[in-house]
Amino acid sequence: MPGDALSQDPAELRRRIDTTKAHPARVYDVFLGGKDNYPVDRNAAAAALAANPRGYLDVRHNRDFLRRAVTTLTREDGIRQYLDIGTGLPTQENVHQIAQRIEPTSRVVYVDNDPVVLAHARALLTSGPEGVTDYVDADLKQPAQILQEAAKTLDLDQPVALVLVAILHFIEDDEAYPIVRDLVKALPSGSRVVLSHLTEDLNAENVRAVQRTYTERGFTFVLRSKAEVERFFTENGLEPDEPGVVPVHHWRPDGAAPAPEVADPGYLASLDDIEK
Ligand code: SAH
Repeated sequence: MPGDALSQDPAELRRRIDTTKAHPARVYDVFLGGKDNYPVDRNAAAAALAANPRGYLDVRHNRDFLRRAVTTLTREDGIRQYLDIGTGLPTQENVHQIAQRIEPTSRVVYVDNDPVVLAHARALLTSGPEGVTDYVDADLKQPAQILQEAAKTLDLDQPVALVLVAILHFIEDDEAYPIVRDLVKALPSGSRVVLSHLTEDLNAENVRAVQRTYTERGFTFVLRSKAEVERFFTENGLEPDEPGVVPVHHWRPDGAAPAPEVADPGYLASLDDIEK
């Protein structure tokens, strides 16, 4: 039944939330200017921003890519079902809001393994009456479990857009490629894959410095080249849509500005304070 994940015992949920260690979902929330984060996350974000000062803009471009991809798939390609793995903390424009504004019957299953996202998942279960949203508390490393849970809400005989946006860099090669293969294999023809990934093809020095800030904190952080990202498609018999694998802000820009061109000085100044 949709919403099952939310019946989790609040004490157990609190036990799973570690406020002494940065969580990627909360660090990402800091970049987006959100409030669902702790000092340890703001510290990790400050370190990453010190390594790559335009990081806060990159995440906005990433989020805006997701908006354009979901808009295109819903409006032009008739996609009505989304499996969004590595959802992140709810923001203003989540996949179901974007899709249901165009097609109210859109069905969306969100998946994340972070208990902080689970704790905020209610904000994702705000489907309009004609569509459905559900939340699954699961790890991308368990694709069979994800598919089984998703099948309670999605019709896996109908096309699904598999959304893997800014998550695969947390998974090493020996697992990442088989996971994507298993997920794609379970989806019918006409399904789509929406994927974004960190790379060192561009801005290499800064991006490698960001990688160090994550690995120092104990996270897997794999940077993949354009060819390695293309492999997620080609080895599964998929051909990337036009214009192919490109920097996120070059994928079918529609003229909407994702963020101010310059950082909000107040926001960055407060991150500096935390770093000191
Ligand atoms: N897709 C969103 C959020 C990206 S942040 C966006 O692009 O805007 C990455 C998210 O992936 C975080 O919420 C983190 O908790 C989640 N994540 C990381 N590793 C995961 C795993 N193994 N299984 C499920 N979720 C994972």
